[in-house]
Amino acid sequence: MSCHEKQRTNEKQRSKERQAKKEGQAKKQKKHLNVACIGNPNCGKTTLFNALTGSKLKVANWPGVTVERVEGETGYEDTGITLIDTPGIYSLTCYTIEEKVTRQCAMDDGIDAIINVVDASSLERNLYLTLQLLELGKPMVLALNMIDVVKERGMEIDMHRLPEMLGDIPVVPVSAAKRTGLDILLHALIHHCEEGMEEYVLDYPREIEEKIAALGVRMQTHYPSHSSVRWHAIKLLEDDEEVKREHPISEVSIVDRSYEKEIIQCKYSYIEKVMGETLFYKSKKAASTDKIDRILTHPFWGIPVFLLIMCLVFFLTFTVGDALKGVFETGLDAFSGAAAVLLERLGAAGWLQSLIVEGIIAGVGGILTFIPNIFILFLALAMLEDSGYMARVAYVMDSVMGKVGLSGKAFLPMILGFGCTVPAIMATRALETEHDRRKTMLVTPFMSCSARLPIYVLLSDMFFPKAAALTAFSMYVVGMVIAILAALGVNRLEKGKENDSLLIELPEYKRPNARTIRIYVWNKLKDYLSKAGTTIFVASILIWFVLNFGTAGMVENPADSFGAVLGRILVPVLAPAGLGMWQIGVALLSGISAKEVVVSSFAVLFGVANANSDAGMAAIVQNIHSLNPAFGPLNAYCLMLFCLLYVPCVATVATVKKESGSWKFTMKMIAFQLILAWAVSTLVFQIGSVFV
Ligand code: GDP
Ligand code: MG
Repeated sequence: MSCHEKQRTNEKQRSKERQAKKEGQAKKQKKHLNVACIGNPNCGKTTLFNALTGSKLKVANWPGVTVERVEGETGYEDTGITLIDTPGIYSLTCYTIEEKVTRQCAMDDGIDAIINVVDASSLERNLYLTLQLLELGKPMVLALNMIDVVKERGMEIDMHRLPEMLGDIPVVPVSAAKRTGLDILLHALIHHCEEGMEEYVLDYPREIEEKIAALGVRMQTHYPSHSSVRWHAIKLLEDDEEVKREHPISEVSIVDRSYEKEIIQCKYSYIEKVMGETLFYKSKKAASTDKIDRILTHPFWGIPVFLLIMCLVFFLTFTVGDALKGVFETGLDAFSGAAAVLLERLGAAGWLQSLIVEGIIAGVGGILTFIPNIFILFLALAMLEDSGYMARVAYVMDSVMGKVGLSGKAFLPMILGFGCTVPAIMATRALETEHDRRKTMLVTPFMSCSARLPIYVLLSDMFFPKAAALTAFSMYVVGMVIAILAALGVNRLEKGKENDSLLIELPEYKRPNARTIRIYVWNKLKDYLSKAGTTIFVASILIWFVLNFGTAGMVENPADSFGAVLGRILVPVLAPAGLGMWQIGVALLSGISAKEVVVSSFAVLFGVANANSDAGMAAIVQNIHSLNPAFGPLNAYCLMLFCLLYVPCVATVATVKKESGSWKFTMKMIAFQLILAWAVSTLVFQIGSVFV
């Protein structure tokens, strides 16, 4: 290398150094922290996360809702903060997916600090995780959430003694729901991050402490860069699989057995001490919860009460939904009429007019007219969930679930299935074993999701005008019963044993939070709307195409179309179930894209602009009767049954594939559901025909 070249490299080197220095300074000016919110399920992590970042994540009352870490941005003074919401956990062991996800997040070197969210109204239970997190040795602040509830109940927490007993970390009383104390929390967080962190809060018995010290020395020599040595040592003594894999320790003399029991015991007795010194009751208000729960969670009456409440929800969905429907009806009729006139004026080709008015407007618009019903359904579900009732339903169902070989936890994803099957399938991650997950995935689609509501609304309004709400409600019950029977069947086949029961703790009843409800309902409506704009939009165009084109090009009569050809293949199969019309075949096929599409395709098939209006329904019924005079309420009921049970929509199938990781399982599920749908609706039709 010549002298000249050397100089140039040196120059380059120096300019690089300058650059790095500048960046370093910039970093100092504008700090940035990655902070994880960690806490028990239901302590308000997501509510806090939403309040701090302005996000609209789903807040809910059962495990499995936040199954992956979610990030959002916030800041305080000149510090930017990336906040991470994690799944709720009770301890840092590695048994469930949630625990794994959260533990990884907590230990990640990229995480600068932890906000340990604690439900102050059940401090005792929450502190167990806190003690474990403290041992990690990361900067941490305690967000003493639900402080409003604490006050309401006449409890008082000693705000001097509590931090003292927790290694002097900042303890900030907040209410995520009422948005109080949030600034102080961020302030404490940022200033505390600048200081270090003590790893020591509680001492274990001498024997264990000696072992921790010995392990600490070993690890310091084997893995010198390792922080939180104490935590790793403790985990080794607890015989933690993952830490053992990470730091294989050959000294059997130190880790001669698992000290897990002693370590847990020690934490609990320390918590007892903390509680004794920090928690006081000013006035003990008797919890009214007990009285209500004596009925709502009664081993026998619990289930009938649940069914009654759901029945009420459907009654509301129908009556209020119907009252609001008028507005949408006039709107859609006017819009559809105006569009037709406009296209005529513009001289649009006949096929284009037909595509826009009969294809897209009837297909997508028809779905939009169900918004009032969907809205009421979600509003009611959100209220039930946020008030704390849904957790009780899971509790009541626990014994039933155990008997059919499902984990008690499985009912939680199933309730979620009333909204949409996709997140419900994802929520099965909260289950411990892969086997339990698959069984739950298999039966969850039988819970009637909101996309099936339009089908029930339309068919029961058309064929059961006097008992529409009851008819729709019966679909929900049939779905649940079949889910349970299916689980029982699978269990018998496997000669499975009864499963362990659910360890769910019942949250206090409380007045639903307006913001939580708003976020919940809006998210669901948004999903519904975006589905109308995407899947249903495309499906409507496809349906219009297959019904308006045949081998001879564009056809006048849909009976000559490709759709009719396709539908006729299905007629012999569907006939025993009372569904032997090619139009129904087409509707069911297209319903695989999304279940609402069954309704859209009815609109397109029978050439009505607004299927959900009284005139539209009358036209469809008349049309059906002119094609098949025998088609009556029994047939309609069987059609609803078929829609309830057959293949879930493509989005669900894709999710099942992703979550189970197996095409074989997914295909088996599809086959099972197709056969079941056919068998049940055929059975009902054949038996029903004898009586009707
Ligand atoms: P996560 O499981 O920890 O994410 O908990 P969520 O954020 O889903 O909250 C559980 C429930 O507690 C929701 O119904 C919230 O509305 C409610 N909640 C959260 N923070 C507070 C609070 O500060 N006060 C009260 N009263 N309720 C809260
Ligand atoms: Mg959450």
